[in-house]
Amino acid sequence: MKELKLRYYGDPVLREVCDPIDTFDDELREFAESMIETMRREQGIGLAAPQVGVTSRIIVALQMKDTDDVDAPALALINPRVVSKSSETWVFEEGCLSIPGVSAPVVRSREVEIEYEDLDGETKRITDDFIFGRILLHEIDHLDGVLFVDYLSSAQRSLVKSRLKKISHAKHLF
Ligand SMILES: [Zn+2]
Repeated sequence: MKELKLRYYGDPVLREVCDPIDTFDDELREFAESMIETMRREQGIGLAAPQVGVTSRIIVALQMKDTDDVDAPALALINPRVVSKSSETWVFEEGCLSIPGVSAPVVRSREVEIEYEDLDGETKRITDDFIFGRILLHEIDHLDGVLFVDYLSSAQRSLVKSRLKKISHAKHLF
């Protein structure tokens, strides 16, 4: 299995809009496995391809039923897209493997409906109104170059500003 290297805040690859995937082959399945491996190794609950330097629309996530459900099975989603999201929102403290040491409360929709292709290219749908749905929204954002810190208010942002600066200048240290 190929070892994947994490990319950190300040790396331009995290700001790219990723390309759709239209080939469902062994190479894709192996890459998905490596992503899941990397997510587990780094004790993450979700990971998007640009976080390992690949600009393709694939994410992996733990199918968590509760916030401490870290033994949940992992799922790979290809070309995930938000079909609908509720106007009702909830706030939860988020972090990101690409932004170590930074966490902040983020407002997101409560109920989300996501469509995606599985590793065989079959179209599937997920509806969730808790942590799994939130992880998917966070990871899908990555595919469009959006990071959770983009949602912070200027007051929240000023609290993490120096840490962000440090990460982007010292990413070789991680
Ligand atoms: Zn992230």
